[in-house]
Amino acid sequence: MNTATVVVRLPVDPAEPHHPSATPIYQTATFKGQKLDDLAQFNYSRSANPTRTLLERHLATLEGGGHALACASGITAITLATRLLRPGDEILTHRDLYGGAYRLFAQVCTPRGLPWRWADLRDPAQAAAAITPQTKMIFVESLSNPRLEVVDIQALSRLARERGALLVLDATALPPTIHRGLDLGADIVIHSATKYLGGHSDLTAGVLVTRRADLAAELARLQNAEGVALAPQDTFLLLRGLKTLKVRLDQQQRNAQAVAEHLARHPGVTRVHFPGLPTDPGHALHQRQATGTGSLLSIRLGTPQRARALVESLELFPITYSFGSVTSACSWPAKMSHAPLTSEVRTATEFPEDLVRLAIGLEDPADLIADLDNALSRLDA
Ligand SMILES: *Cc1c(COP(=O)(O)O)cnc(C)c1O
Repeated sequence: MNTATVVVRLPVDPAEPHHPSATPIYQTATFKGQKLDDLAQFNYSRSANPTRTLLERHLATLEGGGHALACASGITAITLATRLLRPGDEILTHRDLYGGAYRLFAQVCTPRGLPWRWADLRDPAQAAAAITPQTKMIFVESLSNPRLEVVDIQALSRLARERGALLVLDATALPPTIHRGLDLGADIVIHSATKYLGGHSDLTAGVLVTRRADLAAELARLQNAEGVALAPQDTFLLLRGLKTLKVRLDQQQRNAQAVAEHLARHPGVTRVHFPGLPTDPGHALHQRQATGTGSLLSIRLGTPQRARALVESLELFPITYSFGSVTSACSWPAKMSHAPLTSEVRTATEFPEDLVRLAIGLEDPADLIADLDNALSRLDA
């Protein structure tokens, strides 16, 4: 069946006695057992809960098979993946990276014996050279943060396999209706479901999906051991949000394309990062890896002062940490999502201080463009 069909049809549990059209929320911590030698599949909600199991099956189907686990947040999902490593194992990432993942790798994993290294993983020679015998995890994003750079996932997956490392793909920027990371060779695909999957800025959630039964079993063991699973109410909200994922995203991408094309012609904007523009350096590779662009775009204003001023004068783009919601938003990563980056890392990775990130929502794109034009014209007035 096609994605549009799959996304709205939940795998209903045949044992459900009343055939509800919406998913019941099993708001219970415990389930009663009868026989000590035969405790039911569901016994304690930290380990498994029927509402969450339904969500996890649905997410695995959307990603094209395998096993899914739902966690309390995207960063929890990334943390769980790092728990697969042993002391001394290294994590290698692309130089452009979500600030929260950077904070976890540099400030939590590294001091606890899992050193983090980075390289420009768009360049195959740099990627091959950056891997050491200790590298056990290569972590990349389907579109990097905040520069929306594109790495060759299939090539990195081959490299990871040759060198004995796992390829973990944070696919938050490209939901499964337009991009299937497991098909491209990722061992584990992660989403911050706080973004597009939930889609309404009303929950935080994270997802891990893998086709490897050994990894799925170990991640499920960790999910239970560390107590990080998604709670029933949030699970319900995520199931509800997912039903409109395809229509939301299809429209948001059309809006983002219109805004990106407009801004690419605007003299007040130095550069637009968006994989849907034929002039974008990642465009051709991105087209091989995904059937859509998502609706994030980043623009460069030339100076940090102009970036700050733009963010503060937009009216339809509230200053917001997140993206993937039905309403548009903007952020200045230098002070917000990427605040954890030290000045040394900013210099070494050439972090763009003049970059503004725009998350395009479901508003009429003409209104968004008019708001951007107004704000840009006020910048130099
Ligand atoms: C937001 C985000 C995360 C973290 O997810 P939370 O749900 O906020 O914990 C991880 N990766 C990327 C790419 C994100 O945008």
